[in-house]
Amino acid sequence: MTVRTRADLVALPGYVPGRTIPGAIKLASNEVSAGPLPSVVRAIADAATAVNRYPDTAATQLVARLGEKLGVPAEQLAVGCGSVTLCQQLVQATCTDADEVVFAWRSFEAYPIITAVVGARQARVPLTGGHALDLDAMAAAITPNTRLVFVCNPNNPTGTALTRAEIERFIERVPSDVLVVIDEAYKEFVDDPDVPDGVELAKAQWAAGRDNVAVLRTFSKAYGLAGLRVGYAVASPAVAETLRKVYVPFSVNALAQVAALASLDAEAELMERCRAIVAERARVREELLAAGFEVPVSQANFVWLPLGERTAAFNEHCLSHKVVVRAFVGDGARVTIGEPEENDAFLAAAKSFSG
Ligand code: PMP
Repeated sequence: MTVRTRADLVALPGYVPGRTIPGAIKLASNEVSAGPLPSVVRAIADAATAVNRYPDTAATQLVARLGEKLGVPAEQLAVGCGSVTLCQQLVQATCTDADEVVFAWRSFEAYPIITAVVGARQARVPLTGGHALDLDAMAAAITPNTRLVFVCNPNNPTGTALTRAEIERFIERVPSDVLVVIDEAYKEFVDDPDVPDGVELAKAQWAAGRDNVAVLRTFSKAYGLAGLRVGYAVASPAVAETLRKVYVPFSVNALAQVAALASLDAEAELMERCRAIVAERARVREELLAAGFEVPVSQANFVWLPLGERTAAFNEHCLSHKVVVRAFVGDGARVTIGEPEENDAFLAAAKSFSG
């Protein structure tokens, strides 16, 4: 007899992370290239002496600190082992196998995988011709079985962002028993004033009696802690409570908690770094446009090149120049904005691509 694993998972493709190739520049995972701040490294080193103990599973200090920063009570916060885990917790909190999750496609690669792992059904809604989320089509895709909608803002991998008015109009059209999850993994790189702060938007919804809006944030991108795995959700008290119930105990580890707190202490410096990345994003896009590429306006720390059938060749070409980008074969390539010299190496590769 062999172990019977779930038949519905046999054909499920696993998550494919950006590749790390020794000696090559990695612009494939939307990480911040600059290393952690010395103050953050010190906090991690100090906390390392106590790793014989379990972490505070409720992440009490971090939750309190986030509550102060965001102006929300602790009961409306839930931490997770990276916001990808919170995506999974949210689907677990809302869906059983007859239920549906709606999301745009292409969007964050983990949405379909998580939905399948939970056993729910997925409704993928194509992007607009401008590579943005098509909120009208997403609203139309909601059925009586829909329990959750992911709204990735800015969208990974296209970088496009929705305005406050667009999101509010969308929420009005979503039944109040369907959770709208605004995934703001890249929020700190937004410089368009029309793109809302999701937490402020959610607060206005809660104040108006709509509790079906939740926001996800992460320490992996702007705060530079991708390797430590910590993110958080801001939600109505009832949703946040359910999230804490489906939380795997102790999954936000002790070093991640102190590093997140130390990063919040160093927020001004980290946001300065984000502004430099945003300036580089503008430069990279301008140079790519001048070289003849189509590049949608990005509000994240990456740009999207909708290369279609040329994507695989572009990927190989960049690899031959020792630059690792993220290729979605047949669709496009996503390129993280790194340090200026990394971006220069990528631009040199892109400009010499003739495929
Ligand atoms: N949401 C989006 C849109 C992302 O792109 C990512 C990371 N690629 C995540 C969530 C998850 O980030 P993490 O688990 O590192 O917090």
